[in-house]
Amino acid sequence: MARIVVLGAGIGGVPMAYEMKELVKNNHEVTVISDSPTFHFVPSNPWVPPKWRKPEDLKIELAPVFKKKGIQFIQKAATRVDPENNKVHLADDTAVDYDYLVIATGPRLAFDEVPGLGPEGYTTSVCHVDHAALAAKDWEAFMEDPGPIVVGAVQGASCFGPAYEYLMILETELRKRKIRDKVPMTFVTSEPYIGHLGLGGVGDTKGLLESALRDKSIKWITNAKVDKIEDGMMYVTEVDDSGNEKQKHEVPFKHSMMLPAFTGIDAVRNAGVEGLTNPRGFVIVDEHQRNPTFKNIYSVGVCVALPPVEKPLFLWVHLKPAI
Ligand SMILES: Cc1cc2nc3c(=O)[nH]c(=O)nc-3n(C[C@H](O)[C@H](O)[C@H](O)COP(=O)(O)OP(=O)(O)OC[C@H]3O[C@@H](n4cnc5c(N)ncnc54)[C@H](O)[C@@H]3O)c2cc1C
Repeated sequence: MARIVVLGAGIGGVPMAYEMKELVKNNHEVTVISDSPTFHFVPSNPWVPPKWRKPEDLKIELAPVFKKKGIQFIQKAATRVDPENNKVHLADDTAVDYDYLVIATGPRLAFDEVPGLGPEGYTTSVCHVDHAALAAKDWEAFMEDPGPIVVGAVQGASCFGPAYEYLMILETELRKRKIRDKVPMTFVTSEPYIGHLGLGGVGDTKGLLESALRDKSIKWITNAKVDKIEDGMMYVTEVDDSGNEKQKHEVPFKHSMMLPAFTGIDAVRNAGVEGLTNPRGFVIVDEHQRNPTFKNIYSVGVCVALPPVEKPLFLWVHLKPAI
């Protein structure tokens, strides 16, 4: 009997464990390791700050559902993947042995790459449900004393959709509350143009999103490198296509949500072996989602190294070609 371990229980890990159990039935053992007792439906996080959803609405207790499916569940944080010895080391100094490992740990949120960025700095985040809950508190305070809003994604970010989504959610909420005219809104993004989305655009997203922003009187700065963020002020350098400085901006805000760059999580990027990850800590996989060096390791979700879809534009492409 083989032991198949799925590391991470998010949008990648949970379906992976369900599908695997369905496939191997009781012939092999399926174990999930997650640092959180609950599954979180990440795409709904942007609805939490304006109270369109409560954080509890986005969470499901994992232990009962895994028990029902016959999947073992270890609710502990992994500290290091050890592919040479087929072990996952855990925060309580124990280790789990595996025959096959599926890494589904999502991203590490690299707030540390921009001074003042993130929930421990001056901007909010919707990348994790707990961050969204904090952003809801910030939004409550903002409602008492509204002012300018800045939303966007910093240099190195690869996921831009949620920034546009959050921008439109806030714009709608402000109109519902009949205070839109009191709130200047600016979208600050490292994308080379509005609607690029890190994908070179999808259909006519350039035209559609530019038009939507214009229609809603939302200003934007593209090719933006956020130098630092202080209480109520974002310092931005707009660059040209070669990366040379074009213009400096100081953008004031009373509420801001900026998406950070992602890396692989520490337990994976600090594994200390060649061939598992790229320099940003994303897991290298082939066309079968399998690591070419450690052939009993697979990976799914945001933690996978993806090659850029267009010629590298230096601000948004951070995922070095995997292989
Ligand atoms: C706000 C937002 C909205 C999005 N909306 C969409 C959308 O509409 N459509 C879309 O296709 N994509 C969307 N995405 C992108 C993507 O689908 C989600 O980020 C998705 O959650 C990624 O799934 P994942 O399983 O890779 O990572 P996650 O869902 O983040 O899961 C990672 C799991 O690993 C666990 N973990 C992390 N570190 C450890 C550790 N050290 N030890 C043990 N466990 C660990 C976590 O607790 C979690 O269970 C969105 C992203 C964001 C941030």
